[in-house]
Order: sequence, then structure tokens, then C-alpha cells
Amino acid sequence: MDPNSNQKRRQTMFIYAIVALFVVYILSAMLSPQIRQSVTKEVSYSDFLEQVDDGDVQSVTLNTDSQAITYHLKGDDTLYTTTQFPDDTTLVSRLEEKGVDFSADASNNSDSTLWWVLFLSYAIPIVIMLLGGWALNRYIKKSMGDDGPSMTFGSNMGMGMGGLGKSGAREVKGEDTGVTFKDVAGQDEAKESLAEIVGFLEDPSKYAEIGAKLPRGALLVGPPGTGKTLLAKAVAGEARVPFFSISGSEFVEMFVGRGAAKVRDLFKQANEKAPCIVFIDEIDTIGKRRDAGLNTNDEREQTLNQVLTEMDGFDNHKGIVVLAATNRPDSLDPALLRPGRFDRRVPVELPDLAGRAAILKLHANDVKIDPSCDLDIIARMTAGASGADLANMINESALRAVRMGRKRVIQEDLQESVEVVIAGEKRKSTVLSDHEKEVVSYHEIGHAIVAAAQKGSAPVNKITIVPRTSGTLGYTMQVEEDEKFLSTRQDYLDRIAVLCGGRAAEELIFGDPSDGAGNDIQRATEIARNMVTRFGMTDEFGMVALGEVRNRYLDGGSTLSCSEGTAQRVDQAVIDLVEQGHAAARESLTAHRFKLHELARYLQKKETITGDEFMNIFLRDDGFAPKITPQG
Ligand code: ADP
Ligand code: MG
Ligand code: ZN
Repeated sequence: MDPNSNQKRRQTMFIYAIVALFVVYILSAMLSPQIRQSVTKEVSYSDFLEQVDDGDVQSVTLNTDSQAITYHLKGDDTLYTTTQFPDDTTLVSRLEEKGVDFSADASNNSDSTLWWVLFLSYAIPIVIMLLGGWALNRYIKKSMGDDGPSMTFGSNMGMGMGGLGKSGAREVKGEDTGVTFKDVAGQDEAKESLAEIVGFLEDPSKYAEIGAKLPRGALLVGPPGTGKTLLAKAVAGEARVPFFSISGSEFVEMFVGRGAAKVRDLFKQANEKAPCIVFIDEIDTIGKRRDAGLNTNDEREQTLNQVLTEMDGFDNHKGIVVLAATNRPDSLDPALLRPGRFDRRVPVELPDLAGRAAILKLHANDVKIDPSCDLDIIARMTAGASGADLANMINESALRAVRMGRKRVIQEDLQESVEVVIAGEKRKSTVLSDHEKEVVSYHEIGHAIVAAAQKGSAPVNKITIVPRTSGTLGYTMQVEEDEKFLSTRQDYLDRIAVLCGGRAAEELIFGDPSDGAGNDIQRATEIARNMVTRFGMTDEFGMVALGEVRNRYLDGGSTLSCSEGTAQRVDQAVIDLVEQGHAAARESLTAHRFKLHELARYLQKKETITGDEFMNIFLRDDGFAPKITPQG
């Protein structure tokens, strides 16, 4: 998840804490004078003597050390205080005269009274708040009932003090998750390995009789948005058991000791409702490796230990299965992965071509879509997209259809929503001058021609010079015919050459290159670096791994792991590879320079052209164009 949300939560917690303190302060300020008034009242000594003379005084206590006097009036509970004038020898005789009870007290009576008053004035509001939170919590839990709506309680009480003694786990009846395996498209392997857990939850005794031990926990690992949460819900839905879920990030904001208590409570609830699913989302937030040195977080460690204790403790025959999800499996504490804990790992990978098509079709069921739409081409355009991205694209296309005043989604809406997700919205505020349009046109046609002149490159699908909110002034979209699982050295060199095509065209035509190639340069460099450090595609280094990928599932890049001298040679090899691609691009564009001019002018006029329009012009034999010779 993005770190912003954690930070935001922490900020919210901080605000709650401040508000709570403020409330305590205000209440105590308001209450304490009243308390003091109702208990004690200060009176001047002369008034006191008058009251004695009038016979109103019931009893008097005299502190012989501090000369402080506390007394009661007849028929009045109020405690009055006053201070004796030094050496007022007449007082005792006056009291005796009026028949007032009096006693001497050496202890510091009046001060201790004040201490109690002060203590109460602070303690009472706090007790009120605790009781209030507890009552509210009970009320909410009660009103939710077993068949209550699938709302949250506990953690989202809206007050930092809320949820005391209760876990923030949400319980939804299995049927109420409303999710089954049918709602998860693709991910067949993941579903297969979870099917056994479903069988176990449906009838735990069947497994117990035979003596089979099922895994207590399974860890769903994969990039964000691939459907891990969805799968966990589907397991509960398939087995029709309750689904308790909690997110690791919820623990981060907690007061010390709360995390562990929450885990304890979560498992207690689960124990009562077994068979059931306990789902810990984003488990990496509490389950990070504990060797972090200075940065150890006691709270997290306690919470993690509690999870481990609970997992070791519960009776497996009852049918509690703990599922957890993470996109950082590499950073998990090894203790979590030991046998009897999360020893089963279920990979949930980014969808392949067939998976993307299935996800698109599933989500297209939710919107009105024209039968002429071709979702397969959209699936081909979206290599690398997650299930969440694809669901989002379908929704974007429906929104666009409404904006356009249509009743159904058409292909154009789908195509445009893919581009919105890839490149951002069209930006109307950016108006290019004619010269700028010319430069961008040559740049984009440069990419396209280099790609078209190569044998193995993906066909050009669309070229446009309409600026987008992401900052790109134009782009050339290539779409693979089929899914590629393996790329060769030549494929990578071709890709670098295509990326260099834009800049190469600018150089050839204008001599003075623009800054429009920044992104191309970055991507070309990245490919070249991977070729050198990870894929063993240079003669110089051969099959030596010089880099390590930081996180397979998050785009964390890779780090060099080699000596300083080698690092220098790696840089040189990267430069050589990119230069090789640049030279190939220049060569290709020089050979096709007439087509470059013709197509660039055409694009400048039309602003957006399809792959077919491009290929028609590119392949048309004008008599003077060289025959297309595939790059090799
Ligand atoms: P994760 O937990 O892996 O980050 P989620 O389970 O939260 O991903 O998925 C987010 C949303 O993306 C889901 O609610 C669903 O709409 C969509 N989605 C993701 N993967 C799939 C899939 N395989 N089939 C259908 N929808 C999916
Ligand atoms: Mg999730
Ligand atoms: Zn470019």
C-alpha cells in the first residue's frame, strides 16, 4: 500500500489524542471548581467567629500545626474552612461556651482534602470517557447482532479511545461476503490450491477422522491489485463460513499493547465461530523481519508474537484457517513461515493474456457494453496490468460513455480508457505551436518507423500527438499479437532501437534535439542495464549476476552487487548497448527518410492515426523508397 495512507492514519490518531486530552482538560476545568465548591467553602476568620457566636456551628476540627480550621454548620453538609488568627486564645472558650463539638488534629487535614478533590476532578472525567466508550462499543456490537449488516465495528469507532477491549476484526457471515470463486477470473492455480482449504472448512471432521493435518495458514503473495483480498473472501464464500479480517496497517497506529490485545480478541472470536477464516491483510506491516536493529518497533513485535502464539495455540481440528496477504514476501519474518504457521504459499501473479481477457469479460458484465466490442484486443494492449487496473479501465470506459451521452460502452471508450490509465487524460490546456507539433510528429514517426522496419517488433497500433496529463506530448502504441513469455537478446536490442527512434529522427531532421526523449532514454537505459546485470547478455560478463532485484512484486528496481571497478565496466557496457540501439535507429531512419517526411506531415495534420493508416503509407511503393529490409 502507499505510505501516505499510513501517515494519514497516524495523523488522524494524533488529532484524536489531542482532542481527547483537550476534552479531559476542559471537563476538569469545568468540574473542579464545582467539586471544590460543593465540598469545601473558604470563609474569613471573623465571619467564622460570628457564626460561632450566632450558634450556627455544629462541629469544628482544629489543625494545631497549620492553624487551619474545618467546620460544619448545623443542617448543612458543606465543609467550611478558615484559618485561625495566631494565638487566638479566646477560641476554645468561645466554642465551649456555645457547646460546639471540637477536636484537635495534628495531621495535615486540609491539604489532604485538597489533594483528593484535585484527584477526583481529573479522574472523574476520565472514568466517564472510559465508561462512555465501553458502553458505545457494547451498544454497537449488540445492535450489529449476528445477522447485522457487514459494517465495521471496533477499529473504526471514530474516537481514539473507542474499541476498548474489542478487536477491530470485522465479522461478516460467510454468505455475506457474497464472493465465490466465480467472481475471481483467471488465477486458476491459486484457486486450485485454495480449493483444498475450502473442502476442509466445509467439513473439518472428515479430515480429523483420517488424521490428516491441514495447513493452519496460507500466505497469498503477489503484486498489488491481483485479487488477493478477493480470493480470501471467495474462500470464505465458497465454504460458507464466517470471514474475520484485519489489516496489518491497522496495528501501526495503535497504542502500545493494543495490537496484541486485538489479535487475542480476534482469535477468541474466531474460536467461537469456527469453522471460519481469519484473514490478515498486509501482514508485512507487522511481520517484518525483526533484525531491523535500531529501528525495532516494540509494538509491532508484540503483535507479531501474539499472532504466532495464537497460531501455535489453536485447536486445528475445529477448522480455523488463517489466510494472510502480502506483496513483500521477501521482508517477512522467517518465524511466520515455519511449519505449522504460514507454511503454504499461494502465488497470485499478474494476469496473463487469457487472464486479462477473462477479468475484462467478468467486469464487462457489470456495465452495458456494445456487442461489437472486442475485449481481446484490449487484453493484448494491457500487458502488465493488474486485475484492479482492468476493473478500473472498464469503469472508466463506462464513465466516458455516459459523458459522451451514449447508452452503451463502445470500443472507442475502452480504447480511450486504456490510454487514460497508461498516459493520463488528454490535456486541452497544452497547446503546441506548429513547430512543436512538427518536432513531436517526427519524433513519434521515428519510433514507429524503427519498429515497423524490424522483423520481430510488435505492430504499431496507434500514433498520436495529443498531449496527455502525464506530460507526454505524444506517443506511439505498439501491441503484441500474442503473449511473449521469453525475450531474446535481439528482442531487447530491437526495443532499445525503437526507444532511440524518436531522438534519432529529431537529430536527422532538425540537428538540434529536444528534451522530449527523457522517458525514452530512461527506459532504454533500464533495458540495457538488465541485459548486462541480470540476463547475462554481454560477452564481457557472461552469465554472472551483477544485480539483485529488490522486490519482485513492487517496482523497487534493482541494486548492483559488484565491486567498484566492475561497476564502472557495467556502466560502460550499458552505454555501449544503448549506443548500439541508437546507431541502428539512425541507420533505419536514414534508409526510410522519405517515408519519415511523408508520415510526419500526415501525422501533424491528422494528430492521431491508426496503425493501419501508418502501415498503408509505410508499405506503399512510391518508386523511390527502398525495399523494406528487416533489421537484423
Ligand atoms: P489485492 O488484495 O491483491 O491488492 P484486491 O483483491 O483488493 O487485490 O483486488 C482489487 C479489485 O480488483 C477487486 O475488488 C476486483 O474488482 C479486481 N480484481 C483483481 N483481481 C481480479 C480477478 N482475478 N478477477 C476479478 N476481479 C479482480
Ligand atoms: Mg488487498
Ligand atoms: Zn519518444
